[in-house]
Amino acid sequence: MLPKTPITFAYGDGIGPEIMDATIRILTAAGAAISPEVIEIGEKVYLQGNTSGIDAQAWDSLRKTKIFLKAPITTPLGSGYKSLNVTIRKTLGLFANVRPCLSLHPFVTTKHPRLDVIIIRENEEDVYAGIEHQQSADVVQCLKLITRPGCEKIIRYAFEYAKTYGRKKVTCMTKNNIMKLTDGLFYQTFQQIGAQYPEIEKEHQIIDIGAALLADQPEKYDVVVTLNLYGDIISDVVAQIAGSVGLAGSANIGDHCTMFEAIHGSAPDIAGKNIANPSGLIQASILMLMHIGQNRVAERIHNAWLATIESGSHTADIFRQGVSKAKVGTQQFADQVIG
Ligand code: ATP
Ligand code: MG
Repeated sequence: MLPKTPITFAYGDGIGPEIMDATIRILTAAGAAISPEVIEIGEKVYLQGNTSGIDAQAWDSLRKTKIFLKAPITTPLGSGYKSLNVTIRKTLGLFANVRPCLSLHPFVTTKHPRLDVIIIRENEEDVYAGIEHQQSADVVQCLKLITRPGCEKIIRYAFEYAKTYGRKKVTCMTKNNIMKLTDGLFYQTFQQIGAQYPEIEKEHQIIDIGAALLADQPEKYDVVVTLNLYGDIISDVVAQIAGSVGLAGSANIGDHCTMFEAIHGSAPDIAGKNIANPSGLIQASILMLMHIGQNRVAERIHNAWLATIESGSHTADIFRQGVSKAKVGTQQFADQVIG
């Protein structure tokens, strides 16, 4: 028996509790050696008057376990509420957001059967540093913050990732023709660090045409590294053209802590209806298991998940007449993965 790894879990808001239930049932059935510590974060905590959406007890658990499986949360609208996602990434130093997207053709309908892209998004800097000012009644400002150490860290991570996983090419996307200092620094760092990886092909594209080509011919891309905002946008695009934003998971990597989550949000429009696709969080849990060295359990879940997708049992977001066999709810999908 493997020793149990303590993991911090958060059920989140919207569809969070449903997809987390499904995921935990799968983890348990597959024999994952983990001991969950559940924390309450998000909407409930915000509405108790805590403007950060997370309390001291939750931080204690995260600092102790250093591994976090998080369902999506909702930041209430209105000024004064800080985005919990941004706070967690910054406080835990989660500098890289890694989002693998893979076509499941012919089982999931996509125009891009050979899509297999890893988006590596810088996670702490850029306009997400949250530095905004009211200049005057009618003028507001948001600061784009880029640092050399931040660029070095994410770009080295992207090349090391490519090397470790046998990827052939790293594409960097910036808008360095307009933002010569900020995006310029990201691009220069890409060139400098890239020179240390002669075996890996390198290319640079301006983000607008890069995003367009990525959406049109994703099979031409391998690993893509980019700044925070561009990464946020293109990773949703790639997941969606692979089939659904409901399919992809992500790892948020730091030097000391790691957080795993689905790439989508809390989807309040479909919450509580047992129709959300739990695959994004299942994928996140597979990445988590690999991170803690439980590769066999990860593989078991991945194979059972793939077999379920291949059987044609599909949640509404990927259900297509003539391709899918049965429209299933969140929990039925999980039941089938469990087998
Ligand atoms: P955030 O800002 O938190 O990323 P968002 O505005 O990007 O949120 P999402 O919550 O990701 O929005 O939802 C976008 C759309 O995708 C919604 O219409 C939602 O129903 C759909 N969606 C998101 N996640 C899933 C899922 N797991 N299964 C099915 N549909 C989903
Ligand atoms: Mg989103």
